[in-house]
Amino acid sequence: MRAEAPSIELTSPIESVPGVGPKTGEHFRALGIPSVAHLVHYLPFRHEREEAEDEIEQLAEGHLSSARGEVMKTRLVRSRRPSFQAVLMDESGRLDLIWFNQMWLNDRILPGMRLRVQGKARKRGPALEMVNPQWEELEAGSGEPELREQRLRPVYSASAELPSKKIEKAVEAVLDSVLTRIEDHWNATYRKARELPELGDAYRMMHRPESESDVAEARRRLAYDELLLLQAGLQMRRARREHLFHAPIMRVDDEVDRRIRSRLPFALTPGQDAVVGEIRTDLAQTKPAYRLIQGDVGSGKTAVAVYAMLAAVATGHQAALLAPTEILAEQHGLSLGRMLEGASVRTEVLTGSTATADRRAIEERLASGEIDLIIGTHALLSEQVKFASLGVAVIDEQHRFGVKQRAVLREKSEDPKSTPHVFVMTATPIPRTLALSVFGDLDVSILKGRPPGRREVTTRWVKPEKADEVWAFVRERVERGEQAFVVQPTIDGAVTGGDRELGGVTEAMERLQSGLLKGVRLAQMHGRMSREERESVMTRFREGTIDVLISTTVIEVGVDVPGATMIVIEHADRFGLAQLHQLRGRVGRGEKAGVCVLIADPVTVEGSERLKALVDTIDGFELAEKDLELRGPGEMLGLRQSGELPL
Ligand code: ADP
Ligand code: MG
Repeated sequence: MRAEAPSIELTSPIESVPGVGPKTGEHFRALGIPSVAHLVHYLPFRHEREEAEDEIEQLAEGHLSSARGEVMKTRLVRSRRPSFQAVLMDESGRLDLIWFNQMWLNDRILPGMRLRVQGKARKRGPALEMVNPQWEELEAGSGEPELREQRLRPVYSASAELPSKKIEKAVEAVLDSVLTRIEDHWNATYRKARELPELGDAYRMMHRPESESDVAEARRRLAYDELLLLQAGLQMRRARREHLFHAPIMRVDDEVDRRIRSRLPFALTPGQDAVVGEIRTDLAQTKPAYRLIQGDVGSGKTAVAVYAMLAAVATGHQAALLAPTEILAEQHGLSLGRMLEGASVRTEVLTGSTATADRRAIEERLASGEIDLIIGTHALLSEQVKFASLGVAVIDEQHRFGVKQRAVLREKSEDPKSTPHVFVMTATPIPRTLALSVFGDLDVSILKGRPPGRREVTTRWVKPEKADEVWAFVRERVERGEQAFVVQPTIDGAVTGGDRELGGVTEAMERLQSGLLKGVRLAQMHGRMSREERESVMTRFREGTIDVLISTTVIEVGVDVPGATMIVIEHADRFGLAQLHQLRGRVGRGEKAGVCVLIADPVTVEGSERLKALVDTIDGFELAEKDLELRGPGEMLGLRQSGELPL
């Protein structure tokens, strides 16, 4: 046991660290560091190179170097290039320090203070000077040791009360004694095979590295543990699901298969067939399926979902389809209704706008098994909804569907151990690496190819100055009998920072109706309209009595109107890449090729990059990779907020 801190254990409270009192302890706790173990696990997010100190006289010109001394005097120079200047002296000589445009330093660097500075020294006349050096105050009296060798200094994510340097000090105060207490959970053979350093060494190399390669090695070891732990957690979750819970066995024999297919208005593509095969295998087991079905916009996921649901119904169970928006639920209701006309499948739609009396009736019939197939929004997850025997739940376009929601589904049956087979459909491709780490407890199916008759979509990006030409183009095509979507970022429009007007549905409606689209049959659609209004608009648009539909992103996912050949997105830089790709997928669904026009004058480089990416590629997977590059994984999936991406 080390003499300097005999009582310090990993479990000791942070206040037991020498130099940390109750007040500082509070600040550590605020950063999520209540104990010594937490402190050691609080890793620097980067390292700064620090040069060995020299006497001022010895400073080599033109090289990064560092020195310490006392501030003799300071002054502000208000010339054309305003600067703050200080004179630093040690026993050997004098160094002039100059900071341009940092006049606030006048309040921070005062005569009499001791500083350590780092920068490039240069000769000017007889004097030696350093321009814009890094600096830190040396604490008076404490005799901070001189830096004799170049080193990498850890930089910790700090708070106003607790600067990185203080955290570093606390770590240093306990590191040596604590490292001896860290037991590695991997033995030497295991580590050797994977070329991993020992755990204690990894922490030491992170907090006090001797070289860049120390940092890399340490990071590799700690990342290895983290990923492995995450995988283990996910696999435990999966094992738990598979052993603790069971789902109804639904064997789809060839006769049932034939009956289901005869219900679909088209023959399945080879891609759809492949996924259907996987679903059939899933359904034949008591092990509850949890499968992600990835397929680009327009790849035909709905038919696959319908297959799975009809399989449940055909074997005497119920099925549910959960859609992200009411519009999509309503649309699925309509198209399934058409598909199942004349069949004995009893179908209903339940959303937030279903009238109370109807809702009660639906709830009763679901609980008694009188409804076979229910389509709905999150309203389906509400407590009142119970099923007689839910066999299949399909989640359309919803990435946030996680452990909690599955637990809710489970609670919907009498038998607490029984759970439906769950299929999640998404057009937002999840890059392979991420799919494995975050969705490790899912099986993944990829729906390849496109249904026959799917047309290419051409994408153009146009500056707002040229918008008139776009509307003239829309008008021309409408006169030839085609239809268009116009998408706006908001319902009413808004003024956002500066003088940039943000478009809105109502504003665009007025502008186009009395302007460039005069005489064209326009209608609007947004989330504030009632369900009846929306249904009526969608029906008329589908039937072709509306030419141009102006809407918010409520039409983003899944809306399927084959007559629509154009989509114009105003303020396109306001939307995310995945969202724009989804919107673009609304066209090119019929006989004619589709056109997507993005109108935008992006203020950021990243905004331009996004629009360019969209023009250049039509492939959703490629775009997702690009998006990952531009924004990072958490943002892309909305996982950072949902806290599912802990790395
Ligand atoms: P998404 O994968 O985006 O949900 P949809 O399921 O909405 O795609 O399908 C896109 C379009 O392709 C729809 O109009 C649908 O009717 C059509 N479709 C799907 N499968 C086939 C098929 N096998 N043959 C012909 N058309 C199909
Ligand atoms: Mg869809």
